[in-house]
Amino acid sequence: MRRPRSRTLLILLLGALAGIAATWLVALLSGRTIVIQPRRGSPSVAALDFAAAAATDRLVNPPADRPVKNVILLIGDGMGTSHVLAARALSAGVAGRLFMERLPVSGTLTTYADDSIYTDSAAGATALATGHKTAPFLLSVTPARRRLTTVAEAAMKRGMAVGLVTDSYLLDATPAAFVAHTRRRLREVVAAQMASSGATILAGELLPGDEDLEKLLAPFRDGGYAVARSLDELRSATGSVAGLFPPTAIGDPAQPPELGELAAAALDKLSPSPAGFFLMVETEETDTGSHFNDFERVVRGVLTLDAIVERAVDFARRDGQTLVLVTADHETGGLMLLGGTPEEPLRYRWGTTNHTASPVPIFAYGPGAERFTGANDNTAVAPIVSALLGLGLFPGEDAPPPGD
Ligand SMILES: [Zn+2]
Repeated sequence: MRRPRSRTLLILLLGALAGIAATWLVALLSGRTIVIQPRRGSPSVAALDFAAAAATDRLVNPPADRPVKNVILLIGDGMGTSHVLAARALSAGVAGRLFMERLPVSGTLTTYADDSIYTDSAAGATALATGHKTAPFLLSVTPARRRLTTVAEAAMKRGMAVGLVTDSYLLDATPAAFVAHTRRRLREVVAAQMASSGATILAGELLPGDEDLEKLLAPFRDGGYAVARSLDELRSATGSVAGLFPPTAIGDPAQPPELGELAAAALDKLSPSPAGFFLMVETEETDTGSHFNDFERVVRGVLTLDAIVERAVDFARRDGQTLVLVTADHETGGLMLLGGTPEEPLRYRWGTTNHTASPVPIFAYGPGAERFTGANDNTAVAPIVSALLGLGLFPGEDAPPPGD
């Protein structure tokens, strides 16, 4: 009796020691000091700044006297509240605000999948696009294979123009969930569905290994798309355009385009649409960076998205009928911010290299923005967008657009 028990104790002790050693190792590897260049071009800061920055005021929402005509949905894949706070602390100071944090309305979204608290980009984007839960890996179909109509598809039915832009693989889960419906994410299937979607502008990267380019591009050409391989080609294309860029090109300073340039090109293309538009822009950097526990990459990803938020809100301010939403499909990395003072740099630790069930932030600007306040589920977004645009996607949709 005694011997097995002491052996068990020994195993437990060794296990605990190994656990402590592993925790220290992770802290050592992931807790390194990083220096982020503040956005406005001032010198880099190693220690944290607690002085209130100049622009911390919230923007005033425009009067909701006209119906919502356009929706811009900006997604930081994997972007949790700690990702946002880290980017804020290192660019605007701890007491400052990112631009997205200055939007007049904010809230949170829970992101769980249909029968798992864990989710992925496919189920997360499906919930945002359709207002329905599904299982990880599935794109805008229920686990029982029922096809789910997306807000982008309903918008096109009403004559609105649609744009889907990412700095990741164009056929990746987040953009695909807005126009593709499949349980098996074969790229030929997703490409064919995106190419016949009717979206006005599609832009993202090719995957490494897309050697058979013609085979991949053919459905887009057959679907009436001009295929653009550079930003200039994308800008100058008339009619529907699919921008397909080399793998890892977007965001690489040596290889344009930048995601911000793609988003601006998409806005230029969509804004003349008389019936309005729906534009989704995603950065994948926040998710990929978190999977690699690469803190600097994550912070840069949040700041890239933040600059696009500013651009989108600039457009919305001038337009007066555009709703801007900023959110995430799920949190990745279980990022924890542990310490940092005016003398000490930010200390952080990653909880995982995978996704977590932590709720994600949502920020909103424009007519109808107030409906996104407070704690919601990610399935709440599509019904509100549908009601504000009058898409009739959900039975008993409550709010007719104001002024109609
Ligand atoms: Zn991920």
